[in-house]
Amino acid sequence: MTVPSHVIAMLRRVRERFNEDNLRNRMAPRSQAPHGLRPMRKASQASVLRYWDKLIGHGPASDADRAALADDATLEIAERYSGNIENFIGTVKVPVGIIGPLRVNGLNALGDYHVPLATTEAALVASYGRGAAVATKAGGISTAVLYEGVMRTPAFCFDGLLEAGMFVEWVVAQVETLRAAAEATTRHGKLISIEPIVDNEVVFLITRFTTGDASGQNMVTIATHAMCEAIQAACPVPIRRWYIEGNFSGDKKASFLGMVTGRGRKVSASVTVPGAVVERYLGTSVEAMLEYGRVAQMGALLSGQMGAQAHYANGLAAFYIATGQDAACVSESAVGFTRMEARGADLFCSVTMPNILVGSVGGGTGLPSQSAGLNILGLRGAGHGAALAEVTAAICLCGEISIVAAIAAGHFTRAHENLARLR
Ligand code: NAP
Repeated sequence: MTVPSHVIAMLRRVRERFNEDNLRNRMAPRSQAPHGLRPMRKASQASVLRYWDKLIGHGPASDADRAALADDATLEIAERYSGNIENFIGTVKVPVGIIGPLRVNGLNALGDYHVPLATTEAALVASYGRGAAVATKAGGISTAVLYEGVMRTPAFCFDGLLEAGMFVEWVVAQVETLRAAAEATTRHGKLISIEPIVDNEVVFLITRFTTGDASGQNMVTIATHAMCEAIQAACPVPIRRWYIEGNFSGDKKASFLGMVTGRGRKVSASVTVPGAVVERYLGTSVEAMLEYGRVAQMGALLSGQMGAQAHYANGLAAFYIATGQDAACVSESAVGFTRMEARGADLFCSVTMPNILVGSVGGGTGLPSQSAGLNILGLRGAGHGAALAEVTAAICLCGEISIVAAIAAGHFTRAHENLARLR
């Protein structure tokens, strides 16, 4: 039997720094009270400055740090952030780059879009910009929202399987009453289905809503809570306990349920790039991209990826941050399938993404720089939720085209060296 060398090396490194007594002292619970910060829900210039006085007084933070986070422009409108954050101390300035025009010929999105991307990763904007230029030269990306439905999955616990079954029988006879209870909380949320999933004495209810132009997570939580309270009040089967979320919905994590049935908006986006455009603007050939694509598909299969794609998360994170979406939803949005196939001498490229969670209203979309990001696109406010989802998928397709070309051509490392190491 052997012990892996990295384990031995790690133990040695710890032993070089500490003996056992040092470690025991260091890791023992400490009882002296730390310098506390009082939680504050409402943000104001005064509350921000109070936090900074404490941070500078008691910690390593400096006046320069205060000036960087709590700059004049942020302080001036501190109150506007109250609905989006607690314990507010300022804003992080994430660099924003622009790509486009990205031509989208979609069911909902139609136009040449300039797309803001917020990131600190050099090469990302250049790469997505290259993909957008190529897709636009090819005539644009066709897109369609194929499905819409945000899930919440409350869980109900009973004494046994029999009671769980009786509960399901009761619920399926009550759907109209339950729908009315849920929809009474929102003007835009519509309950489209309730699907019971039984695991012995526990019943999960997969509730699906359309959410208008909002990404809808708060909307479905509030509506589902009202539905659960209506169940609790009227259900003849004794409920031992219920939870608003049974961790079944895939909220903020990649899940097979989301991948198969969709959560948020499911979008397909595709473009056929002429072989000549591949050669001239991507510096490679259709055959070289397909050959690498086959290897990449095999890598995805062998490593057990959920779906098969190269880097949706890069474009999603940058786009979500620039436009006030919940960046944590990248964890669920970044699953799906990329396909590249020969169409004669040309290259057909497609992405299908079942879990795009974006809104043109609600969440962080009303904040100053985030709403500016949506304005650049022309997709701020009511009426643009579906178009925004299609543009999101189109952006991801641009990133897939560019990265596959870069790796196929052997340019990937050099591009990062040139762009990221020139600081
Ligand atoms: P929200 O800002 O909480 O709600 C959207 C608001 O916009 C609602 O008041 C809605 O009115 C209104 N609205 C106006 N015009 C609309 C239109 N055309 N379409 C849809 N709504 C319209 O946003 P949300 O989308 O429900 O929730 C997104 C936020 O939830 C994100 O910031 C995310 O971080 C957070 N989140 C919450 C949870 C959770 O479990 N609570 C989980 C993950 C993320 P009506 O309500 O009357 O329809």
